[in-house]
Amino acid sequence: MAPRDPERPTEPARPDGLAVPTGPTEATQPALLSDLTERLRRVVEELAPDRLSGDDAKRVVAQFSTLERLAQAGRLLAARRVDATQSWAGGAHRSAAHWLAAETGDSVGSAAGLLRAAQDLVAGSATDRALRRGDLSLPQVREVTGAVAADPGSEQALLQGVGGSSLQALREQCRRVRAAATDQRAAYARIHRSRCLRRWTDPDGTFRLDGRLTPDVGARIWARIEDEARAVRSDARRAGTHPPDRACAADALTRLVLGDAVSAPRASIIVRVDAAAYQRGSVRPGERCEVDGAGPVPVDVVRQLAAQASLSAAVADGSDVTAVSHLGRTINARLRTALVARDPVCVVPGCGNRRYLEIDHVVPLALGGRTELRNLARLCSFHHRQKTFEGFTLAGGPGDWHWLPPPLDLPRTDPGDETGGDHAERARRILRRAAGNRQPRPSRIRRPPP
Ligand SMILES: [Zn+2]
Repeated sequence: MAPRDPERPTEPARPDGLAVPTGPTEATQPALLSDLTERLRRVVEELAPDRLSGDDAKRVVAQFSTLERLAQAGRLLAARRVDATQSWAGGAHRSAAHWLAAETGDSVGSAAGLLRAAQDLVAGSATDRALRRGDLSLPQVREVTGAVAADPGSEQALLQGVGGSSLQALREQCRRVRAAATDQRAAYARIHRSRCLRRWTDPDGTFRLDGRLTPDVGARIWARIEDEARAVRSDARRAGTHPPDRACAADALTRLVLGDAVSAPRASIIVRVDAAAYQRGSVRPGERCEVDGAGPVPVDVVRQLAAQASLSAAVADGSDVTAVSHLGRTINARLRTALVARDPVCVVPGCGNRRYLEIDHVVPLALGGRTELRNLARLCSFHHRQKTFEGFTLAGGPGDWHWLPPPLDLPRTDPGDETGGDHAERARRILRRAAGNRQPRPSRIRRPPP
């Protein structure tokens, strides 16, 4: 090592020759960042995933996820400054979004969304702090800042929900906040005015379609497509193929438009509306009036749709559905409507899957479970299989479900198998817990003394 030149201003010691010695300031941050980048690059270059245990690999994935969120947070904050100072201008770029898209390799639309989120982000706010801690992914920031800009009072509740819920659930929660904070009729009219259907051709010759429709019209069209997609799927199975859902939907649309559809036009949409909002004619914060799978609509639209045979309306009270008005006559249809309204996505916390959900008896019929709303839940096929065959348990109730893994020694048998030792005892516990959620029937249910 060369001896220190006494004439030069003293620099703090850098034992590894790289680290910036003092806390980062505006001047040292870029140097600190290049240092970190260089170290990270070395870590990734030398990463030997084959030598990691499965659990260590999981930890590494979690660490890289945090790093990614932190990097995205830093990029968002710095991009806001580039936008504000217009330092992107003067080059080949038409806008800050075009510059950012070139920088990130992402689409211009996505870059514009990021800049919008950066502008909506209030410095020093709870969202700002969560972002800087690395608690929020970019899509989460986009959703939360948009909703908080519409209703600043919603921030705490939204941030609390971020950790436990899927992005899809957060998106719906944010959409609800924005809907309650904006003039629904004006927003609906704006969407209606912007309705369109466009086509173009990709460089490889693919025919592409893109459209804009109001949520209720979109939901009705999509419900019809899903009806026909079921027919497409069973045709395919008979022929020994299993096309993905999106391919079935494309075939269904083709058949419907070209007049080759084989399914009966029975598609109905489901609307979830709070009783008070329906009475009043407008939605207040915390209430909802929305088309299942499509989004909020003005109460007026639901009132008009109520006259049509294609609508099922579920009147909700909190997370449970207390009343269902359905034009079908059978109890099954009423229950189904209530369930779809209550469980728009798979009820397993964090899942958020909304495609081809299956209805599950929380307490199996064989264990005395009943076909009634509080004993039914919608699960995606993956979680339904886990519950039915792999010993997973759904506990709790509407609005507060818990997904419990099987005990380690659980024999993987049919859940109704009373000979299954621990399993049978566990099933009885679930049954007792579910019974505790019901209205007490003193003659039949004994509660343990407190
Ligand atoms: Zn699921």
